[in-house]
Amino acid sequence: MRKSKAWWAGVVLGGAAVACVPILLVELSLNGYVERNARAKLESQARSALGLAEIRLESAMATLVDLSSVVGGCDQRSLEIMRRATSASTPIKEIAVLDESGLTTCTNFGDGGEPRAVSRELPLADRRFEVSLIRFRDRNDRALRLRLDRKNAKPLGALIPADFLVPDTIDDDFQNGRSLRLVLDNSEIVAARPIGDEGLSIDHTRTLGVHLKSDRFPIAVVVERTRATLTEEYRDLMTVGRVGSTLITILIFAFVSLYFRRNRSDPLVQFREAIENGEIVPFFQPTIDISSGRIVGAEVLARWRRPDGTMVSPANFIPLAERSGLIYPMTRALMKRACVEVGAAHVNRPQINIAFNLYAGHFANDSIIEELKAIFTNSQISLSQIVLEVTEREPLPDLDLARNIIERLQKLGIRVAIDDVGTGHGGLSYLMKLGVDTIKIDKLFIDAINTERHSQTIIETLLELARTMNMEVIAEGVESFDQVEYLRRKGVHQAQGYVFAPPLPAASYIALIEAMYAAKVAPAEQTATAA
Ligand code: C2E
Ligand code: CA
Ligand code: CA
Repeated sequence: MRKSKAWWAGVVLGGAAVACVPILLVELSLNGYVERNARAKLESQARSALGLAEIRLESAMATLVDLSSVVGGCDQRSLEIMRRATSASTPIKEIAVLDESGLTTCTNFGDGGEPRAVSRELPLADRRFEVSLIRFRDRNDRALRLRLDRKNAKPLGALIPADFLVPDTIDDDFQNGRSLRLVLDNSEIVAARPIGDEGLSIDHTRTLGVHLKSDRFPIAVVVERTRATLTEEYRDLMTVGRVGSTLITILIFAFVSLYFRRNRSDPLVQFREAIENGEIVPFFQPTIDISSGRIVGAEVLARWRRPDGTMVSPANFIPLAERSGLIYPMTRALMKRACVEVGAAHVNRPQINIAFNLYAGHFANDSIIEELKAIFTNSQISLSQIVLEVTEREPLPDLDLARNIIERLQKLGIRVAIDDVGTGHGGLSYLMKLGVDTIKIDKLFIDAINTERHSQTIIETLLELARTMNMEVIAEGVESFDQVEYLRRKGVHQAQGYVFAPPLPAASYIALIEAMYAAKVAPAEQTATAA
């Protein structure tokens, strides 16, 4: 069947989809690479930020532990010690003595400190300590307060400003779509970079983020960046990747179309497709009984009907078919198609036979027997209507095997003819050995009839041989009535040639046999009317 537009559209779409695979793969792996890379960077930033917060908290804890044995209450000596400790410690901005409820009794400044809100206190791994978030009433600043409980004295508190717990704000890493947050386990935000981002909500679908939790403190660091910054940062890499993959795709496309174009111009590929598409069609050349003028059969001759309607003659494709082995599927296709096209005209006319041309290779093994049975059993053409022509031009590969195959074909009712007799290798012994039913005398000898080249002897020898071996004779390529007359005189019964009919398309051939067999009924009808 000819391939439909939809089929080709499917092929083109499928091809385009396959060609886009490299683009997709590169896009996917680039995205994966960018995300892995960016995540690794975020992780290392989060780790170092968390490390900083932990060191500051630890240092504050150590200061409080040192103070716990020397600071009693709010006496001058204790206040002096607290003042010195505050200026000696980097993270601590204020040291206080607290009351049991956690409120400031006095600080290193001597007073009760600024008004502030203290959040719920979270216990540390070291159970003597608790940590809480402080918000100053009249400022936006935040701080963490560490509280150390003591057995025989009031608790001590140390205030660590939030800014001391996160990396410096001048750090470019946390600008423009990149952010860092230090959070308490109760989800309160202690500090953020860029400054002022503490209160901003984050759309996590548009960001890539890492959440790293401390295993010693109830704190965690969240580092995030918008996906837009990723695209920005890796734009060059992505561009190179995309251009590369597009080039690869174009190359693949070019190779594939080149492959198809080369394939399409390959005659062998074209011929194979022609068979598959049903472009090889049978023509039918009638064989005539020259004494009665009636059609006794037809020879199937292959034609290549191209989609544009032009006809290619077998001389242009049979040699290729034989060389390539495509002659076998071609012969099967012709036989099947002949059944479809002229089976109905043959089914009620058992006297009309149909001849197919075989190739010498068909006699290299006996598979042809089963093929013929498969095609014609249960078809409208019976095996007893079939004639197989095997040419004398090509030597048969194994004469004994050929003889055996011919015998088995004959047992099925099939007749076998030697084609182009007089031109080939075999000679007379060949004919005798094969035991065929019919010989077809080549056009070469028919052409010579009644000319200077005419030698009676060859035709007469062949006819004599046919008579003794009880073989039918068909004269091929008969073009004139002189030739017909001569053949009739010599006792030849059947002939084929342009003088009667050229190879015909199925419809013309059927019309011819229907007219001829209708013509036989006509005189009987006339007699009936006359009577
Ligand atoms: P062939 O089997 O000897 O077929 C007879 C050729 O002579 C046909 O040529 C036919 O059209 C042509 N012919 C018939 N009467 C006349 C005439 O009066 N004058 C002239 N000048 N020519 C006439 P065609 O159809 O071109 O086939 C050529 C050859 O191709 C065939 O020779 C046969 O050998 C081969 N062929 C054709 N179809 C098949 C096929 O289905 N299978 C195989 N294996 N060979 C085929
Ligand atoms: Ca033939
Ligand atoms: Ca012939």
